Amino acid sequence: MSNRSVEAIFLAPAPHMVGDGFRVHHFFPDGVIQDKQRMSPFFMLDYASPFRFTPTETPRGVGVHPHRGFETVTIAYQGKIAHHDSAGNHGVIDAGDVQWMTAGSGVLHKEYHDLEFAKQGGLFQMVQLWVNLPKAHKMTPPRYQELPAAAMARYPIEQGEVEIIAGSYKEVKGPALTYSPLHVYNVRLNAKASCPLSFPAHYNTAIVIIKGSVQIDGQTASADQLVLFRNDGEQFVLSAQEDCIALVLSGEPLGEPIAAYGPFLMNSWKEIEQAVVDFNEGKFGIL
Ligand code: MN
Repeated sequence: MSNRSVEAIFLAPAPHMVGDGFRVHHFFPDGVIQDKQRMSPFFMLDYASPFRFTPTETPRGVGVHPHRGFETVTIAYQGKIAHHDSAGNHGVIDAGDVQWMTAGSGVLHKEYHDLEFAKQGGLFQMVQLWVNLPKAHKMTPPRYQELPAAAMARYPIEQGEVEIIAGSYKEVKGPALTYSPLHVYNVRLNAKASCPLSFPAHYNTAIVIIKGSVQIDGQTASADQLVLFRNDGEQFVLSAQEDCIALVLSGEPLGEPIAAYGPFLMNSWKEIEQAVVDFNEGKFGIL
């Protein structure tokens, strides 16, 4: 086994609003990583850094919109998000919870601040990941995995833990079902603790620093930064400079063509055109 080195540590790009409820830094694609394949199977990463919303009676958010061909993964760190989709699912994603929604053949959904959270106002921090689906599963029926904090797998380490959302850490498996090999963890460490991590060298790997700061490969990464790794080795160590939370992403590249258009993520432009036609004909259901 050889060491995996850091390719770049990116500052969060300037935020923009998605709807009126999600103030996000768009790390990729296009934000700081231009190549749409570079983080495959992860296609998109929007990060809402901590932001205090004022109280309101009208929850902020983003209205009804479609998705096809991938999965949306919402990881809540602070605040509460409510969700409705055209498959009849409804849920609240509280701090510590994850929602893993497979859009597959197509859903309509809307994402809003939870009403109670909206009324009280407060700090909001979350990640939304888009996980691409392999060609063979792009049109799978929609699926909704509600993963509350209590359902997460946890691997205790000295002065910390690895919370496994998807994939596995040292044979401990996370609860999320996935369509391709990938790992998603929250690593929580007290100051001065460290955590060894190892993934096959060809797995695309990045870390978002959610809180605190860490040393990796002789460099320092701080809150709200993204660490992109080279595919030059397997193992690396996260060492906490202060109490920290790091969101770790690693996955086997799908190695398939990408055609991306707005909320649709397919393999060809013909399939994108079909998605637009199907959406316009109401085939994504009603919400
Ligand atoms: Mn959405």
